[in-house]
This record gives sequence, structure tokens and C-alpha cells, in this order.
Amino acid sequence: MEFKKPNIFISKCIEHGHCRYDGSMITSNFAKGLEPYVNYFFSCPEMEIGLPSPREALRVIVEDDEERLVSSHSGEDKTDDMINYAEAKADELEDKNLDGFVLKGRSPSCGVKDVKMYKSFGKAPTIPKKTSGFFGRVIDERFSYLPVEDEGRLTNFSIREHFYTRIFTSARFRSTKEAGKMSELVKFHSDNKYLFMAYNQGRLKTLGKIVANHEKKKAEEVYKAYEEELYELLKTPPNKKRKMNVVLHILGYFSKDLSPKEKAYFLDMLQQYMDSRVPFSNLTSLLEMWAIRYEVDYLENQSIFNPFPKELIAVTDSGKGL
Ligand code: SF4
Repeated sequence: MEFKKPNIFISKCIEHGHCRYDGSMITSNFAKGLEPYVNYFFSCPEMEIGLPSPREALRVIVEDDEERLVSSHSGEDKTDDMINYAEAKADELEDKNLDGFVLKGRSPSCGVKDVKMYKSFGKAPTIPKKTSGFFGRVIDERFSYLPVEDEGRLTNFSIREHFYTRIFTSARFRSTKEAGKMSELVKFHSDNKYLFMAYNQGRLKTLGKIVANHEKKKAEEVYKAYEEELYELLKTPPNKKRKMNVVLHILGYFSKDLSPKEKAYFLDMLQQYMDSRVPFSNLTSLLEMWAIRYEVDYLENQSIFNPFPKELIAVTDSGKGL
């Protein structure tokens, strides 16, 4: 299966430049592994506002109930510079057809959440609350329909799988939209039926109604309505129960062809998945193989079997939440 390359913005210090406050770069197996399959866009907001590397670290402080971004020793205030930069950068990125963001966690600039707050600059205690970074916050608000992830969270298998599914589905949708034909949208919808069913059955139905286009709207209007609903559908990851229902539904296509032992083998694997002992892809690989063997053409193109390149499946890290 051919995949369109998603456009991803990544914090520059993750594998793209020695721009951290201490002059270092962060090595990331995740970012390196993804590189051949995506187009990366990157920048370092702190260097873009004129700071050197190495430099004095920045921190978020709370002053008169207001969060400020300041240099940790001198207290120099960089709040307005960073907000202005973030807004201008977000404007620029709106034209880049992005499919997702990977931002450096815990950074007072790039962090999406989990950023420490202090009472002041210098030797001051932290506040027992976390916030978002000044750049990450603007990005999260302006691109709320896209996945904006913290690189640390992506070491979790299920968060990463959801992220990959979103970015590759978004990239494929963009390419379908560029063609602008209704027939292409119908095919996109049909190929994603079971994937979307696992995500949200109600929204799948709404998408079906949009594609059916009984009101005979122009293709452009239909695409716009579909896009809005699609990004909403992709926001919440499917839970195990919904995924289980979908694979049982697909299993129904082969119920007359499979032997009792084959069915029992599949159901045993399904139980292992429910018990977090094997990944979901074990089930979909088996179903895909049966779709090929029994020549169920409709199933062969279903994206639920390959929502993203197989090479990206790695269960070698934390593996939490399989
Ligand atoms: S976290 Fe963001 S601002 Fe900080 S070094 Fe990395 S890219 Fe630059």
C-alpha cells in the first residue's frame, strides 16, 4: 500500500539542531524512525526570537496571577517576543498543509503541558501546578483539529499508534481533497469504513450522509463538511471494546470459510489483545490475510489493516497500553 507523506512540524532540538539552552540536541528514535515517511518542518522558537545557544534557560513564572516567560537567572522578560513569534509562526504554518506536530515536552516554550511554573526567577520554588509552554499553547489552540503531541508521550505504544493513524489519514485525505472529485471522496470513505467505525460509529454515519450528498451540494462544500467531521472523529482514540466489535464484524465475512480451530485461534488472540498481551495489529494482520485468501475485495483495501506503514510498528519501547 502506498502512503502519502504527512507534513509534520517538529521542535528543532529533536534531531534537527543543537539549539537547546545548553547547546545540545535531543536524540529520538521515534523522530528518526518516522523521518523516511514524513516531511519535517522545524524551527526553534527560542532561537527565532534572537536567543543564542547555549543560553540562560527560560522558565515560566507567575506574576500577579499572570504567567510570564523569563530568563531563569537575569529575569529578562521574553513573554511578548515569544507570543508575537508564536502567532506569526502559526499564521505561516497554516499554509503548510500540516498533519500534526511533535513538540519538545516540558519546555517553557514548546511544551504542550507538564511545564513547571516558578514563583520567580533566580532561586525560587516551583508552584505545585503545571502549564503549557508559550509556543506550544498557541499551536495547540490554532491547530486544535490536528494531533499536537509531546515527544515524551509518543514513547507510549497506543498514543503513538493513534498519532500515526491520525497523521497518515489526514495526509491521505488532503491528497484526495486536492483531486477534488466526488468519486475520490467516496473511495476514501469506503476504504476507511472499518477504521472509522472503530473510532466512532455515530460520526461514521454522519460522514456517510455527507458523502451520499442527497442535497446535491458542490464537491467543494461536501469536502469541507466531510473534513470538519473527519477531524472531529479522529480526535478521540478508539477504545478496545470498539476495536473488538469491529474485528468481530470483519470476522463475519469469513465465518463460513474458517475452520472451528481457526476461529478459536482468532478468538484466543482477541482475548490476548483485550488482556494487553498482544498489539491490535496481530488481529488485523490475520484478518487481512484471510481477506486475501478468500478474495474479499471490499476488505482488501480497508485502512484498518494498515492505517500507517507497517515498518512503524515497534513494540520495543514502553509498550504501555497495548
Ligand atoms: S524546546 Fe523548542 S525552544 Fe527549546 S530548544 Fe527545543 S525547539 Fe528550541
